[in-house]
Amino acid sequence: MNRSIPTVNCPTCGQPARWHADNPWRPFCCERCKLIDLGEWLSEKHCIPGPPDIENPDAADFGTKGSGGNPV
Ligand SMILES: [Zn+2]
Repeated sequence: MNRSIPTVNCPTCGQPARWHADNPWRPFCCERCKLIDLGEWLSEKHCIPGPPDIENPDAADFGTKGSGGNPV
């Protein structure tokens, strides 16, 4: 069944992706491919050496908060 929905090749995996409101990840075929492409773009542009811990202060307090209590 060929309807008049145009398709494009997913930049990540090359699979045909529907260019339609039904596909919120266009021009990618799926959310995964969009995230992969975004991740590659970010790593290329910013050269992130590692996970940024500064943006999440709570991460620094990991294991120290909860005064007087079992962690489980
Ligand atoms: Zn894809």
